[in-house]
Amino acid sequence: MRVTTLFKRLLRLDGVRVVAVELEGEPGQERVVVDLARPQRRLLRCPRCGFGTRACYDRSLRTLRHLDILRTPCLLRLEVRRLECKRCGVVSEELPFARTGSRFTRAFEDTCVWLVRDAPKTVVSRLMRVDWATVGRMIERVVAEASGGGEQWLSGLRRIGIDEVSYRKGRRYLLCVVCHDSGRIVWAAPGKSRAVLNSFFDELGEEGCARLEAVSCDLHGAWGEVIRARAPQASICADPFHVVKLAGDALDALRRQDWQRLRKEDPRRAVWLKGTRFVLRQRAESLSPGQRTLIEELAETNARVYRGWLLVDQLRALYTVEDPDQAALLLDQWLHAASTSLLVPFIKVARTLTEHRDAIVNAIRLGLSNARLEAMNSTVRLISHRSRGFRRLESLLAMIRLVCGKVPVALPT
Ligand SMILES: [Zn+2]
Repeated sequence: MRVTTLFKRLLRLDGVRVVAVELEGEPGQERVVVDLARPQRRLLRCPRCGFGTRACYDRSLRTLRHLDILRTPCLLRLEVRRLECKRCGVVSEELPFARTGSRFTRAFEDTCVWLVRDAPKTVVSRLMRVDWATVGRMIERVVAEASGGGEQWLSGLRRIGIDEVSYRKGRRYLLCVVCHDSGRIVWAAPGKSRAVLNSFFDELGEEGCARLEAVSCDLHGAWGEVIRARAPQASICADPFHVVKLAGDALDALRRQDWQRLRKEDPRRAVWLKGTRFVLRQRAESLSPGQRTLIEELAETNARVYRGWLLVDQLRALYTVEDPDQAALLLDQWLHAASTSLLVPFIKVARTLTEHRDAIVNAIRLGLSNARLEAMNSTVRLISHRSRGFRRLESLLAMIRLVCGKVPVALPT
């Protein structure tokens, strides 16, 4: 078999002819260079907008990196024509085996991106022999292609969750939007301000906003306002995790107050109280007999902390009530009990939750929570940690979409 025929078969690239195969470079630094020729089609197409023309602007020799051959890097060399597009300016013609603007073949990029979902960056860049920043660009191209210009991510959204994720130390946040129906992160942008949330609604468009049925979020005041203004028909749902956490924090505050008092009066009891912290976080029904005894002791010795614990447990139990009307009734009773409890931290919580009463009831009625987003928090942080060294924030966002947005990547094997 001739070498050119062999390579034509091995490369598996459609619409090209192998003209020559050379081994170039110093010993130890060799590269296989495959010269390709393509049948010259008369019509040139703009890869961005599809504009067609017969006029060729210029021609130049382009080298594309392909998957290694045996253990040697492989380069494809071919003539690429450029055209002058009326809208996009001077651009290179589309190549079937490479993405626009890339110096790598699709097969090479797909392999890198497939690896990067699970492998640490040092592994990917050493194995594939590419710069880490270059891998970031590849992910951006693959994700952009999968999302077809960005519209597909946001089309047909009905029930969404909004949350901030701290992705790096030093209070750097991403605002993430998850689709409750598909379980994907559909949008992410740096920051957590009103302006960032507004830019999400801008991208979603008027029709998209009007289609929203429910939005779950934490009790961050500013977000509720933005949601009400942009999608007034959508039910705002207070994320249960954040609601119960408020009460849990109030209980912590009570315990700390009692502990401070006991430290002076009775240091041994103070140490004992400190040890109840873990038990106080448990649900009543999951207490072991030993833990139950501890809670009973607490009821006798530290009545305030015990009453706080009961309030937290009752609030949590609201979310297991099957009838939403019954749950709403119980919520009102809880708010009354908390606000008349004489426990200052709980009175404050009752005030906050009263403001968000409807959102709490909505969440119970629709069964929505940001639990999935909370779980993604740790994934996003892991991705961010792994992606350190991407020079562009866009690469990090693309990586989040790749992993949490479930973008399919095909291996070229
Ligand atoms: Zn164009």
